[in-house]
Amino acid sequence: MSVQGYGHVFSRNPLNRGEVERRDEELINQKSSDQNSLFIVMRDLNLLIDTSSSKLVWLTREELDQKDVNSPSIFLGILDGIYHFAVSVTQDQFPDQQLLKTNPSYRFTDIRTCGELLQSEDSGIAAQARIQMNWHDKYAYCSSCGYKTEMKRGGQVRHCDKCSTDHFPRTDPVIIVVVYDGDKCLLGQSQGRLRSTNTYSALAGFMDQGESIEEAVAREVMEEAGIEVKNVKYHSSQPWPLPYSIMIGCHAEAASTNINMDTEEMTDVKWFTREEVLLALEGKSENLRVPMKIAIAHHLLKDWAYQNI
Ligand SMILES: [Zn+2]
Repeated sequence: MSVQGYGHVFSRNPLNRGEVERRDEELINQKSSDQNSLFIVMRDLNLLIDTSSSKLVWLTREELDQKDVNSPSIFLGILDGIYHFAVSVTQDQFPDQQLLKTNPSYRFTDIRTCGELLQSEDSGIAAQARIQMNWHDKYAYCSSCGYKTEMKRGGQVRHCDKCSTDHFPRTDPVIIVVVYDGDKCLLGQSQGRLRSTNTYSALAGFMDQGESIEEAVAREVMEEAGIEVKNVKYHSSQPWPLPYSIMIGCHAEAASTNINMDTEEMTDVKWFTREEVLLALEGKSENLRVPMKIAIAHHLLKDWAYQNI
């Protein structure tokens, strides 16, 4: 395990986020118009990527000026002395037809597909940019007084001039857990995406306020499956930019085995054998589909199935 942890998709951002530099408004303003700085562009929260190299497309200030892009730049960080930013663009500035003429492998791509296509480090930058851009779009007004807020510190703060409140980008913690009982593990199918693809995954849910990770795991498993747990162990975490979550991956031992499912949230909850899970991880099971490698659930299951926990 590296310093970045398990190395999940969306988690290996190589940029130095420039905590000291971003406090210098003048420096950030100057760098956002510097010809050496680099910019990723987002259109309706989709990122411009090169599908042939599986990398983000970085543009210069000059290239943005040619298309009259002047929306506020979000400062992402520094790499090899170069300042990196994200900027929002419009359909008029970057129409698809013109884009394909520039380079046939350029595409504006949604963040989930970015996670599947991009090289690992670029997926981390994409997550940071998408989470922050989405937050700025949704939090333009002060939640204390309703006045319009202004971006500061290169995007890490929105400040209200009227009541002097600083607002910070949010990150929502979500626990996700593989519960096991000897050679069986508990997987569920929630309404929505999992149901539509007939996939079973680890149980998951938002942490409540004033709750420890262990308590959140016990509560969610009880709510969704009616199962008691013990020995909750942390495994790894993954930023999940849909829209701004951090997935906290755990394993837990079952302290009871009779399922009592929450029928409002779940369409099915079942015990699966290690054998079935091993087949599903290799895509060879007829009865079970599990999440793909992009998701932390895949790795929680894999490490349990191969007895690496
Ligand atoms: Zn205010």
